[in-house]
Amino acid sequence: MPTEITAAYARVAQALADACLRAGRKPGDVGLVAVSKTHPAEAILPVLEAGHRLFGENRVQEAKAKWPELTARFPGVELHLIGPLQSNKAAEAVALFDAIETIDRDKIAAAVAAECRKQGRKPKLFVQVNIGAEPQKAGIAPAEVDAFLIRCRNEHGLDISGLMCIPPADEPPRPYFDALAKIARRNGLDQVSMGMSQDFEEAIAAGASLVRVGSAIFGARG
Ligand SMILES: *Cc1c(COP(=O)(O)O)cnc(C)c1O
Repeated sequence: MPTEITAAYARVAQALADACLRAGRKPGDVGLVAVSKTHPAEAILPVLEAGHRLFGENRVQEAKAKWPELTARFPGVELHLIGPLQSNKAAEAVALFDAIETIDRDKIAAAVAAECRKQGRKPKLFVQVNIGAEPQKAGIAPAEVDAFLIRCRNEHGLDISGLMCIPPADEPPRPYFDALAKIARRNGLDQVSMGMSQDFEEAIAAGASLVRVGSAIFGARG
């Protein structure tokens, strides 16, 4: 099991480097967020031991249970929250995560801003965009992103680093990746988090600065 994960991680890292070269980008320009949600510490260890330090989790409680011990053992870990955030978890999220990729409404922006001030912390922040305008999905509608970014800055005092999206599941993702990259560009944001196990190479071609890869590294989730 651990050796399988080590081999899968090496394959993904190589595929990422190859995709960067094909896209005329430097491998170091694209961060690999290894998404360890649902997987126990024993599954994460081989990836930490391979020297990887950038990880994503989608639940505050789960991350809180798993990560403090690992971050104490492996200095330099950068932990990203990639799942939905409730305002009553904002304090824990700001305390634990180095980046929150799922700022998706004013209430969350305000709660995170208040906690950042209170705790004197400054996690990197991303606005989640509902890039396919799907009714069931979280995120700011594409047409409302520019105005939301202005409110984040002017009303909430938040410094937003970039945009994040999860495109519709059953359609080719490339047009959605291009659309997110375009919204980021016109707002002067250089961080774009998009692409998962099935499509991270296409996301890199479209300009992703972060890809979030879970099952291709850790295997299927139970
Ligand atoms: C689970 C998850 C991922 C990783 O998905 P895989 O298909 O396992 O690579 C990426 N982003 C988000 C927001 C997720 O919830």
